[in-house]
Amino acid sequence: MGNANEPVVNLISKPENMLKTIYTACRTCYSADYPINIYKNAVDEEKMLKLIERVIGSGHFSTIEHIQVTFAISNVSRACTHQLVRHRHMSFSQKSQRYVKEKGQFDYIIPPTVEKNPEILEKYKKFMEFTSNFYTEMTEAGIPAEDARFVLPNAAASSLVTSLNLRELIHLAHIRLCTRAQYEIRIMVKKMCEELTKEEPWLKKYLVPKCESLGYCDEDKSCGRKKTKAEFLKEPAQV
Ligand SMILES: Cc1cc2nc3c(=O)[nH]c(=O)nc-3n(C[C@H](O)[C@H](O)[C@H](O)COP(=O)(O)OP(=O)(O)OC[C@H]3O[C@@H](n4cnc5c(N)ncnc54)[C@H](O)[C@@H]3O)c2cc1C
Repeated sequence: MGNANEPVVNLISKPENMLKTIYTACRTCYSADYPINIYKNAVDEEKMLKLIERVIGSGHFSTIEHIQVTFAISNVSRACTHQLVRHRHMSFSQKSQRYVKEKGQFDYIIPPTVEKNPEILEKYKKFMEFTSNFYTEMTEAGIPAEDARFVLPNAAASSLVTSLNLRELIHLAHIRLCTRAQYEIRIMVKKMCEELTKEEPWLKKYLVPKCESLGYCDEDKSCGRKKTKAEFLKEPAQV
């Protein structure tokens, strides 16, 4: 399960025939044959990959929108999930703070920077204990959970099921694996990508930070992994 303070991510659903489905979508665009015949007569994996890589490489991304994957995610902060739900091509079912009343100390996430600072860590834990006690006092006084939750912090742990298509997952990887993204969402998205590439290793080269795909860094503050856009554009074109 890894670090108890880290996101827990499991891939719970993906199409069995992922490669064949994308291949059929790609091939249909250039073939006089019926898609069902293309699907049934799908060639070997190497040939399918060759076509798929060419089509994705040329930016024809609608062909990978046919692939939907679903992840079960837990042990993430509400700060993290709030960022994730900004992605408009994803579907979410998240543990409700209205319907699920906290009993006793609520679970919460401790950022590594806090974990490493004993003095702050102690105060952090005391703050969570105080908040939990007040939350309980409120619910015991008859305040509904949907109102008592107003005192719960961004650190409160959450769980969700999320689905997205492959195009969106690649986009998610591009911007959330970048070191400019917050540490927790970066770990969570990395685990989502790893879960999928365990079963579909050919996707590894696509599920990367955007600089790997662009060939340069387009952020104001670069981590130095790649040349900045300005440096990159100054280079003579490769022929
Ligand atoms: C490092 C970092 C810092 C951030 N800081 C902030 C911040 O300070 N404040 C803040 O509010 N947000 C912040 N965000 C969130 C960010 O602004 C986006 O809301 C979030 O990353 C979702 O990205 P997206 O819109 O590209 O992706 P998605 O919503 O997943 O959409 C994918 C793509 O679909 C297209 N698309 C989707 N919807 C539309 C639309 N309505 N019109 C046209 N095209 C569309 C776009 O091409 C988009 O890139 C930050 C994100 C990152 C990665």
